Amino acid sequence: MELVYQRVLLKVSGEALMGNDAYGINTTVLDFVAGEIKEVVRLGVQVGLVIGAGNIFRGVAGASKGMDRATADNMGMLATVMNSLAMQDALERIEVDTRVQSAIPMQSICEPYIRRRAVRHLEKGRTVIFAAGTGNPYFTTDSAGVLRALEIDADVIIKATKVDGVYDKDPVNNADAIKYQRLTYEDVLSKGLRVMDAAGIALAKEDEKPILVMNMTVAGNIRKAVLGEEVGTVIHS
Ligand code: UDP
Repeated sequence: MELVYQRVLLKVSGEALMGNDAYGINTTVLDFVAGEIKEVVRLGVQVGLVIGAGNIFRGVAGASKGMDRATADNMGMLATVMNSLAMQDALERIEVDTRVQSAIPMQSICEPYIRRRAVRHLEKGRTVIFAAGTGNPYFTTDSAGVLRALEIDADVIIKATKVDGVYDKDPVNNADAIKYQRLTYEDVLSKGLRVMDAAGIALAKEDEKPILVMNMTVAGNIRKAVLGEEVGTVIHS
């Protein structure tokens, strides 16, 4: 079995961790995602992980109710740390060595983000969870995912979603929606496809880092992706 991706940056949204719940972390989903990660770690893939916080708190939601945006975003970033610790716990329970590195230093609960140390962990086969986004308000964890992917020189950014790729319109509400196999960054930006935020796409484009959008709710999909089987939609230059 030949790996097409040796080092991946997996972006999981906070909402994905909610499952069918209305809020928070669904431990069944958490354990499922951890199991999917373990499968590829076993194959020798180095995994970096960025987790969002839509299941707990989003800065824009706070700001829409009158909160100061930067303060609300700081809360959103703290929420990603909670998700990251939960994921570390789930991974370590199934014996996947994991380190959490936070962009906002919190030395008593996790490591600070240090790029070279993160790469060293990856080389040793440890999964690294990059918490607290970029550490800056007004950004998203999508952008953080791309940023960390560039920094650790991942082969690909895998954006885990609930649908099996990028469609020309919402496949949930449109039976005639067409799935794209491949797209360019330009296509995504000009067609206004909602893959990830424009800042993240622009950053990936600058470094020509491919983004694979795929359904992570299907067991074995990440494994298929790293083994080069056709899953999801690839965005490239
Ligand atoms: N956030 C931020 N800077 C970052 C990353 C995240 O301020 O670099 C905040 C922002 O408020 C965002 C929240 O953290 O709404 C959660 O991240 P995101 O919305 O990307 O989560 P997801 O949609 O992936 O669940």
